[in-house]
Amino acid sequence: MSNPVPITVARGDGIGPEIMAATLHILKEAGARLAIEEIEIGEKIFLAGNSAGIAPEAWESLRRTKVFLKAPITTPQGGGFKSLNVTARKALGLYANVRPCVSYYPFVATKHPKMDVVIVRENEEDLYAGIEYRLTPDVYQCLKLITRPGSEKIVRYAFEYARRHSRKKVTCFTKDNIMKMTDGLFHKVFDEIGAEYPDIEKEHWIVDIGAAKLADSPEAFDVIVMPNLYGDILSDVAAQIAGSVGLAGSANIGELCAMFEAIHGSAPRRAGQNLANPSGLLLGAVMMLVHIGQPDIAQKVHNAWLATIEEGIHTYDIHKEGTSKQKVGTKEFAEAVVARLGKLPQKLKAVGYGATRPAVPAAPRPPARRAVQKTVGVDVYVGWVNPDTDALAKRLQPLAAPGFELKLLTSRGIKVWPDGQPEIAKADECRCRFLGNGTGVKHKDIVALLGRIADAGLDFVKTETLSEFDGERGFSLGQGE
Ligand code: NAD
Repeated sequence: MSNPVPITVARGDGIGPEIMAATLHILKEAGARLAIEEIEIGEKIFLAGNSAGIAPEAWESLRRTKVFLKAPITTPQGGGFKSLNVTARKALGLYANVRPCVSYYPFVATKHPKMDVVIVRENEEDLYAGIEYRLTPDVYQCLKLITRPGSEKIVRYAFEYARRHSRKKVTCFTKDNIMKMTDGLFHKVFDEIGAEYPDIEKEHWIVDIGAAKLADSPEAFDVIVMPNLYGDILSDVAAQIAGSVGLAGSANIGELCAMFEAIHGSAPRRAGQNLANPSGLLLGAVMMLVHIGQPDIAQKVHNAWLATIEEGIHTYDIHKEGTSKQKVGTKEFAEAVVARLGKLPQKLKAVGYGATRPAVPAAPRPPARRAVQKTVGVDVYVGWVNPDTDALAKRLQPLAAPGFELKLLTSRGIKVWPDGQPEIAKADECRCRFLGNGTGVKHKDIVALLGRIADAGLDFVKTETLSEFDGERGFSLGQGE
């Protein structure tokens, strides 16, 4: 028998300690080989003045074990407290959020009896990089950041997950008809990496119609991979329409560490009453067992849990007259699962993790040749309250030379000069596009241009360097350009 695997456990707040006790009891009775280190996180730590909700010594345990089973915590009301999940995600590099959304019809009510979808959400980039600016009194900006290495990591994870879990299809959701560069890259990487998985079906949907299809016919999907924002929204939609927000677990996977939890919160009003449903955390723990190479135990626990659910032994949150047989508390539910260890469900589909291959780190790809980057111009954002943008163009044109030509002015991304439509509503900021003469632009040319703009008394609030990569334009055209 293999040695116990060290894991870090946090019992959390509210219903956390009860559902964690129930989960650990089931894992122990199932024969999980775990060496548990406990850490304290959440409300107590927040209120003791640690704004991250986690003590410095807790990080040492996480770095040591690299596996975190986490109960929900309460984030105290009021300002200054940071989301522990966001902190953990960033500090531990947890780039993939994996959330299986499964229907347990007819034992748990849902409109989608055949739903069995796994959402794989990119967890670190996109609009969640946290790069926001106020440029002028009226204009705020949030940068959407998508990188090639970040996209490759998450897309490969989705395909590896599909293969290891015998899933047939991976779907990608993006909005690359609008965000041709950022979402376009994510889609392109999906096509490139997907080609390495000929055994898996692949498809791409534009996220709006894809989301509508997911809400209407989730059985059409298997594994869905998407950038951070879409994944955040749609993983909640998917869990909700499966009928089982309280039953879903999730995994946050990084290259070095992984964190497993329920998707629900600490439900403080239900705390201490032996009422809470431990299923979400238990199913998170099942994902952990697969992750640490104990798929046999994962399978035993998951099937015993399915047998308990189909026998109608339900906690209050999913109990329904007619369908349920017995309303039980947290502890009794855990005992019912323990009593069924070794049993298979008869009506719900049994799970099989026995053949689940352990995660194989992707073979490192040969480093791609870096594209040759050539600076060709600069966008200068100027604070400009006057709706007469032609007047701004007139002031800027003589400042462009030497080295540049003023090509375009946009307000809120829409062309306002030359030949702007008079109806266009303008903000108090204008993007002014200066292009070089084709032989390449040097940084000192840009600095000199900015100097001329400043000397003319104009207020520039931001600049973006415009480049070509292997001769391909590395910036979008203005709308109407
Ligand atoms: P919640 O998920 O705690 O509760 C929402 C509703 O679902 C409540 O009616 C609750 O009674 C019920 N519920 C949730 N889990 C249940 C379970 N296992 N069994 C039975 N019923 C359950 O969401 P909330 O009320 O918005 O948040 C409460 C606290 O949890 C807040 O402090 C919030 O910040 C925190 N929270 C933590 C996490 C986390 O640690 N991962 C996630 C979400 C919310």
